[in-house]
Amino acid sequence: MSASIIDGKTVATNLRADIAKAVKAFEKQAGRVPGLAVVLVGEDPASKVYVRNKGEQTVEVGMRSIEHKLDASTPEADLLDLVRTLNKDPDVDGILVQFPVPDQISQQTVIDTIDPAKDVDGLHPLNAGKLSSGMPALVSCTPLGSLLLAKSVHSNLSGLEAVVVGRSNLVGKPVAQLLLGENCTVTIAHSRTADLPATCRRADILVAAVGRPEMIKGDWVKPGATVIDVGINRVPAPERGEGKSKLVGDVAFDEAVKVAGAITPVPGGVGPMTIACLLRNTLQAACLRAGVDFESVISG
Ligand code: NDP
Repeated sequence: MSASIIDGKTVATNLRADIAKAVKAFEKQAGRVPGLAVVLVGEDPASKVYVRNKGEQTVEVGMRSIEHKLDASTPEADLLDLVRTLNKDPDVDGILVQFPVPDQISQQTVIDTIDPAKDVDGLHPLNAGKLSSGMPALVSCTPLGSLLLAKSVHSNLSGLEAVVVGRSNLVGKPVAQLLLGENCTVTIAHSRTADLPATCRRADILVAAVGRPEMIKGDWVKPGATVIDVGINRVPAPERGEGKSKLVGDVAFDEAVKVAGAITPVPGGVGPMTIACLLRNTLQAACLRAGVDFESVISG
């Protein structure tokens, strides 16, 4: 039997529609719309596409998009000055600096400089700490998107065995914290895990955030499990023509789809959720700053 495919595009579209409604409710109460500032340093082509998509989707849900494009040679001090200005700007609710940044700039220093209340990427140590303490926090977007996809399959995750492969601060650790917050029994696996296939086979919810193309094989998946594949890997695709490439996840999809109960595809799974969750975080940050109840506006 083949797994059901978790359609991240549709879940993200529905989430953006909910956010658009919630923005109207926010505006009625706060007398303004939420504002998201995105800062791009340099000319990285993939980052330019992300920033353009973020700007378009921000406007589509009725929020204000503020874009700052800085030269690749911008000194760290200038970027930090801009971040501090945005921290103080009352019309800015969320600040996102697009990573990676050029080598002369420390990514961690940038993260540490963003006001935690405007940290819609959820990367500031204060937000990471609040998440691990079970306190309300701005949660980084890809982990949040991964959780929402798991919840689109299981309305109640309580008591399920979850295995997260990968322990980065960006994905693995926050995903694990979120699943713990949903009362899953969570194992975090990584490059030193002794028997990774056996560990993965325990999982009712298997989250792959490794960055290794199709590493997780079909026979590592427990029959009926829900598989959330966060990986995005570009690999050569000579079958599509000379010099062509394609995106694959960290899970061997063609094998896993025959065993799992539900699985995210790559592309079209976790990826589309990331911007939708960024917009959700921006609304959440705006609500906190304006004293508006986020849960009541987002649940309609
Ligand atoms: P990192 O490289 O920061 O972390 C990778 C993790 O995988 C590490 O914890 C590492 O373990 C573990 N790992 C590496 N090799 C193995 C192995 N052979 N066996 C077991 N574990 C291993 O990556 P990220 O967390 O930033 O990203 C993970 C994936 O998610 C990437 O493909 C990335 O492109 C994708 N991604 C997708 C996003 C989206 O929007 N969908 C957003 C962000 C990331 P150790 O700590 O021991 O080294």
